[in-house]
Amino acid sequence: LSKLGWPNLYYSRAFSVSSSQSKYLTYRVEDGVAVITFDTPNSKVNTLSFENSEEFKQILEKFKNDNTAKAGVLISGKPDCFIAGADINMLQACKTTEDVEKVSTESKDMLMDVEKSSKPIVAAIMGQCLGGGLEVAMSCHYRIAVKDKKTTLALPEVMLGILPGAGGTQRLQKLVSLPNALDMMLTGKNIRPDKAKKMGLVNQTIEPLGPGVDEPKVNTRNYLEQVAIQTAKGLANGSIKVAPRKKSMVDKVTERLVSYDFGRNYVLKQARDKIMKLTFGNYPAPLKILEVIDESLKHGYDQGYKAETKKFGELGTTKESNALMGLFHGQTHCKKNRFGTPPPLKKIGVLGAGLMGAGIAQVTMDKGYSTILKDVSEAGVARGLNQIESNFNQKVKRKRMTSFERDQLLGQLDTSLDYSSFKDADMVIEAVFEDLGIKHKVIKEVEAVVPERCVFATNTSALPIEQIAKGSSRPEKVIGMHYFSPVDKMQLLEIITHKGTSKETTSAAVELGLKQGKTVITVGDGPGFYTTRILSFMMAELLRLFQEGVRPKQVDKLSKKFGWPVGAATLVDEVGIDVASHIGRFMKDEFGDRYTDADVSFMDDMVDGGNLGRKSGKGVYLYQKGSKDKPENPAAIEIMEKTKIEPKMELTDENIQWRLASRFINEAVLCLQEGILASPIDGDVGAVFGLGFPPFFGGPFRYLDNHGAKQLVERMERFQAVYGDAFKPCDLLYDHAKDSSKRFRSD
Ligand code: NAD
Repeated sequence: LSKLGWPNLYYSRAFSVSSSQSKYLTYRVEDGVAVITFDTPNSKVNTLSFENSEEFKQILEKFKNDNTAKAGVLISGKPDCFIAGADINMLQACKTTEDVEKVSTESKDMLMDVEKSSKPIVAAIMGQCLGGGLEVAMSCHYRIAVKDKKTTLALPEVMLGILPGAGGTQRLQKLVSLPNALDMMLTGKNIRPDKAKKMGLVNQTIEPLGPGVDEPKVNTRNYLEQVAIQTAKGLANGSIKVAPRKKSMVDKVTERLVSYDFGRNYVLKQARDKIMKLTFGNYPAPLKILEVIDESLKHGYDQGYKAETKKFGELGTTKESNALMGLFHGQTHCKKNRFGTPPPLKKIGVLGAGLMGAGIAQVTMDKGYSTILKDVSEAGVARGLNQIESNFNQKVKRKRMTSFERDQLLGQLDTSLDYSSFKDADMVIEAVFEDLGIKHKVIKEVEAVVPERCVFATNTSALPIEQIAKGSSRPEKVIGMHYFSPVDKMQLLEIITHKGTSKETTSAAVELGLKQGKTVITVGDGPGFYTTRILSFMMAELLRLFQEGVRPKQVDKLSKKFGWPVGAATLVDEVGIDVASHIGRFMKDEFGDRYTDADVSFMDDMVDGGNLGRKSGKGVYLYQKGSKDKPENPAAIEIMEKTKIEPKMELTDENIQWRLASRFINEAVLCLQEGILASPIDGDVGAVFGLGFPPFFGGPFRYLDNHGAKQLVERMERFQAVYGDAFKPCDLLYDHAKDSSKRFRSD
């Protein structure tokens, strides 16, 4: 670079000809190019808000009138984030569709100004370029993206129940092919720089500066700035031309096809059918996106822009977008450690190399912690290692990791059959068999070797942490860390504190979870804590439905239609019928007939017959290797028939769906009433991210706020009259049913 005559990049920002300071954006002219830098103070990310939009408009005006600037560069001061999207509070503050439309119109006008600028503007992208951020970038005349790990481009609005409302639905269609545009808008998926270049979303990519460079991120950002300045200059003097996207044969055929009514209708119908099959129409946003695309294909971009604003307005006030934005807030809330400064954590021991232990070790070592995985047998350790290695191999195959990184990580993992390597561990997480006696035995063995400071975390599925802590001489160091399977894929971590857990211990567990990339909820102690408890109450109802003659395929079809990602019958097979049976018995002992008064011998008979679920190849379904098809297991049906009872009420689709869901929701509210949940926000996040409660409802509490507790109570009372206390609404649910102005969520 110095050969090109550039100064030390790290200091390049000092070489400005003129500069003026404002809160979010700075403006300076270098080499005839205006460099507009977006850098939100005291924040890791840049988001678009009313306040900074005003600043942006003023700076744009200044740029237009600045004769010393022939071109512009828009760049972020933050190497990890170009612009992460619009601040969703702007939308949440809107009361009417007109208010929402106004947000769209204003941002659209602003970006139209950028697009219409007579002087070229280059978007220099490094880090997240999402939603409104990508819309800004698309309105510029040229885009350069750095090929580093953090750079991703996406339009994730659909995940918030809305659509890109600042012109994004139209500009994207101009840049990339229709199938790619639909794919991006309907899935919200992340696009890496290489793919973005191939698609036509960016014009140029550059390599980040290598690891040998001082402060590689900052210097790469500054290098990007210099490349963008030179490019902007080239665009202004005509030495660089924007090449049109190379169209493949498929692109050309699609373009031709959609220019005819029948072709357009065919393509959009295919997309609509696919959406309906996947979502049962529960999510309005993808369907509205298709309507906008239809409009622009039929009548051109001007009509498309208008349709975009109108549909954006409609979507911005739906219950679904309110629910999905509430989840986004919830996730942000659960990505913070609210328990004070954590103690230093360097070495983590994991006890038990089974399904969960290996998963926990994987996500721990992956984040650079020195990790030791211990089991009682060579075979146990080998099984765990095999699991981790094959997960890493998958990552290498999908280009998420290089084989060098995989080998380096695997080389860092220590395995052991004895405790000696735990002697300087800062935390030990146990994932041995679910048996209180064994948990007490290992806690004693661990405490005999680890230092005083070491935290002991248990990954129990349901055992109260206080009972486990009774086996410890340092109960303040004992905590629950309930991971979900598969650990590397599931976002949620449920942390459970018992009465004696110290704040420092909680902070350490939350910190590790956050570093592992988890969304962390912290709940109080009790049988099944929060997630296992609410799920098992629903599963208890599933058992009764089986006995009344409802069959697995019917249950799955109805649960998916309701919005669960996995059918309730399939879920039992995934959890394992032996595990579900074990937990079910435990919950029945703890909660009695309120849990279930159904005959639980079904589970025993299933386990006795080796029908353990997916892991044994047969549960309520039969699993054949290499086949996606899973017929119902005749042996399971026979066992169901053995304990058959007459249904006490009509088995309509709605009754089946709500007998399952109402028990889940009521138990969640009872957990809040009993103080197991500290806040409804944790309850919503836990139910959606841990158990798959329909995201468009936003969680059980958001559901009650949006749809009314009264109608749930009325349903439950109808069920209660027939089935008894299993359906008795809890007091807090009654309170909310009586007073519709009461809300669980304040956001
Ligand atoms: P698993 O049977 O796959 O693995 C248990 C492992 O622990 C085995 O490898 C076994 O050899 C090892 N082990 C047993 N005693 C040991 C000891 N004294 N020292 C070291 N290793 C020992 O079980 P899993 O499914 O991984 O479950 C482990 C724990 O996680 C249980 O408490 C379970 O309830 C909980 N959990 C399981 C899931 C799930 O979906 N499987 C989810 C959340 C929590």
